[in-house]
Amino acid sequence: MALKSAKERTARARLRQIMNGSRGILRANLVPMKRYCGTATCRCAKGKRYWHISWYASQSQHGKMRMKSIPPKQLDEIRDWAKSYQEARRLLAIVGDERWKEIGRGKA
Ligand SMILES: [Zn+2]
Repeated sequence: MALKSAKERTARARLRQIMNGSRGILRANLVPMKRYCGTATCRCAKGKRYWHISWYASQSQHGKMRMKSIPPKQLDEIRDWAKSYQEARRLLAIVGDERWKEIGRGKA
């Protein structure tokens, strides 16, 4: 097995930390959607700039996008889950790229 670079070691260590941690991992993007609630006296009735923001989690599944509305109470937690996934994906790419230069190098 080839020697691991410092870059790869760091990425693997952090990846392990994420995977072994108790924090959730969610493959989704968070999407803000503006909406008006329809109440005539609500500030949102004054114009689009006053519309409420609702957050949705979106995810492509078998080539189709699916969305779920996120309850405001859960927003911070879900944002953390999505961040964990993004970070893990970035780290896995670092680890996976390191072996590229091994292809065809030397004799097996
Ligand atoms: Zn409103």
